[in-house]
Amino acid sequence: MGEELEFVAIPVPDYVAFDVETTGFSPDDDRIIEVAFVRFENGVPVERFSSLVRPDREVGLKILRLTGISREELADSPDIGSIVGQIEQFRGGLPLVGHNPEFDVSFLSRVIPGFPGVPVYDTLELARIVYPGLKSFKLGDLASELGIPLCDAHRACDDAEATGLIFAAIQERVLAISKAVREKIIRIMGADWVSRSVFQVQESPGPQLLLFIEPSSAGSLPGDVKPLPAETCLDRVEEACLDWVADLLQGQRGHTFVDFPLEGLTPAKVAKSLSAHPGPVVLAADLAADMDTGSAASQGMSFLSVPRDYLCLLKADMVEDLTRGGHLDHLDVESKRFLSTITVWRSITQNGMFREIQVVGKGHTLSRELSCLGFPDCQEFCPYLERCFYRKALNAALASRLIVVPKEHCLDVPGELNASGCVLLGFDELGTIWERRQPRLDLERLRSVLEGLGCTGLAEQVERLIFKGLDALGSNHDMVVPEDLVAALASLHREIRLVLPELSQALKHSLGTCSQLQAAPPVLGADLRRLEYWADQMEGILAQDNTSVCLLERGYGDARGVISRKHVWPAIHGKISLVERFGNVVLVSPNASFVSRFEGLRRLYGFEPGDRVHHVDHPVTHAQAGTGPLLVSIDKGHRLSYSEHLELTGDFIKQLALATSENILCLCPSYSYIRSLAGQISEFLESNQIAVFAQGVDGGARVLEHLGEPGTLVLARFGVDILGNTQVLPRILVIPRIPFLPPNTMADIRQREISSLGKSGFVEISVMPVVLALRAYMEDLSRAVGNIAVFLLDPKLLPGQSGWGSEFMAQFHDVASMVCPQQIGIAQALRWIRSGNSCLLYTS
Ligand code: SF4
Repeated sequence: MGEELEFVAIPVPDYVAFDVETTGFSPDDDRIIEVAFVRFENGVPVERFSSLVRPDREVGLKILRLTGISREELADSPDIGSIVGQIEQFRGGLPLVGHNPEFDVSFLSRVIPGFPGVPVYDTLELARIVYPGLKSFKLGDLASELGIPLCDAHRACDDAEATGLIFAAIQERVLAISKAVREKIIRIMGADWVSRSVFQVQESPGPQLLLFIEPSSAGSLPGDVKPLPAETCLDRVEEACLDWVADLLQGQRGHTFVDFPLEGLTPAKVAKSLSAHPGPVVLAADLAADMDTGSAASQGMSFLSVPRDYLCLLKADMVEDLTRGGHLDHLDVESKRFLSTITVWRSITQNGMFREIQVVGKGHTLSRELSCLGFPDCQEFCPYLERCFYRKALNAALASRLIVVPKEHCLDVPGELNASGCVLLGFDELGTIWERRQPRLDLERLRSVLEGLGCTGLAEQVERLIFKGLDALGSNHDMVVPEDLVAALASLHREIRLVLPELSQALKHSLGTCSQLQAAPPVLGADLRRLEYWADQMEGILAQDNTSVCLLERGYGDARGVISRKHVWPAIHGKISLVERFGNVVLVSPNASFVSRFEGLRRLYGFEPGDRVHHVDHPVTHAQAGTGPLLVSIDKGHRLSYSEHLELTGDFIKQLALATSENILCLCPSYSYIRSLAGQISEFLESNQIAVFAQGVDGGARVLEHLGEPGTLVLARFGVDILGNTQVLPRILVIPRIPFLPPNTMADIRQREISSLGKSGFVEISVMPVVLALRAYMEDLSRAVGNIAVFLLDPKLLPGQSGWGSEFMAQFHDVASMVCPQQIGIAQALRWIRSGNSCLLYTS
């Protein structure tokens, strides 16, 4: 018989989990409408206290919908002041547990004097550390992953109980983490970290029985093998396309654009079609992110990303040395959390790819610091060479027939792979991929790095450069950099190059006990490496060539001036670079034939004179899917001001929303437009029991998830990925204005070049990309739901208008259309949808 198993108590067995529901996000302006506290003993819920709370102001429809609480219920409830005593008595002196409790504490501390007065554990923070591979840490998603029931999400009592159970699961998970890893986390997070007691486990001498709840969705854990999409019966056309791609790769050197929808071309299918191809072939695709080396290897495939996507084991160890020496105590809490997550993740990851870690993964600034960026130079001295994640991926790629790479890294494939061909799925992004590799300097970030390194004089020089740049820009968003600014940048670059060795020397000197580490160790040397990076960027910007321009932009967010070098036709450079690397290149996209008809689009997408375009006939087109514009016009005249048009749009949307229960998605040209439109229609629609969810106001692209809810209208930005963001797709699209980009220098330069050929620069550079995007939306939706209606409300599209409007509509000649008064248009559209047809509707 085995040894006797013994139960190990969780470190914090008794606690009170809590949650509040509120009228909104602002503790100043919003109010509590429900509170709940659930007492746990030994990680088990034993008693609950909850109460609805009568707020002293109106509650919006969206909150009532979200919580399922009615106005009548709230009116019959006590006010918060009258239940404070009960709350205090219930929770006693036990520690509190919340999911992102800062929010709840900010509300409760306004109404309960001295709240919280006890330690408050955060299950969001703890889950991010101990479950580093989960896709989402929202309460509902986390509960579902851990197999914890959450019957009524967004009701305080259910949320509080689920939070308490998650806290128990987290503690059990901690018990399964090795003592060494727990100690590292405590060291990283520091002595004043409230949750350190969760990691201070009383060690038991004997064998242990752990109550360990694993996430139910094992596939989402890092390192688990994800099956590739199941091989289904290949569509005949798709098969023909793949055969053709294989033939192309066998043929002569060069490149070919192929016109084909992308969703069928999975790596597995492409690999099958290339089975007879002798040399390794690179497949660059979005799908690559979901691949796993384990499952791919059996099919002769491997997955390879760039070194900065993999964890460097040597650097991870160096960080541990630094924490032991107390050198990282000064880090901000977000960075400490990231390092703690890495510590746990390192012990379970198979691939070492940062993108495995949700939220804190690839995007965190320190991921670069802990990555394999030093490869291959570091191989000479690395004690972990055999285990190096990047090296393992590289070796697997060298032995593979098909190497799948993330599309954005198709130009970074190392030469030693000797790939003899490349298939790029979705060539539309080639220009963006090329542009991302071009030198770019954010002046404000450079200034802040210099300041952080104590280079005050140089930081002041950058500040002067910023002022000069902003002055030159005036009210413009961007411009070609004036000569005197280029000269100032060159002088600054020289001085930074001079100061870099001194800074490196000073850092090494300051480390004392850590001086056995390399000159600029991970994390501590981050600013120095950033400065080296910016210096390299400056060098690239200053190196001129006649196919690019040096551009100064205002920048977004905290940026106060960004200087970059941009190619006028970047996709052409990207394509040439691909051909130089791989010889045979096949560029696939659903848009090749359309793009090839316009000089501006050809250049934007990398086509050159003489390029081959192969059109593969496929069954799903607008006409075959039954999609067609039905143009609806209202007699309001064409000369509308911005505010008149906004008002008209608002009126139209109100009528449309009242007339149908269909999912309606309004795709707007900008966030400011969304805010204005939401302000105009929300109150009216809410009073009619229709909730308006607006992107940028009520959340990011996830507002699309509300599309499936009855009585809901969603406003989002044109360009948002519908298919990837919602399960329920809209059958009605409303497009208030054609979403052109604001005037910008690069578009002007491109338009001038096209106009000099006697064509309309504006139509080919600004209008046609919108046509492409709209057609893509229509095709995707038609394929998915079969019957859709699209309202175009831009008056410039009305028949009889000159210029780009008629060119725009001419590109929808294969789609039925209709122009008619507003009410008739709505009725016609709904009939059209109900009859199973699809249409494009037009109104002004
Ligand atoms: S070989 Fe280089 S990248 Fe790989 S673990 Fe070692 S030091 Fe890091």
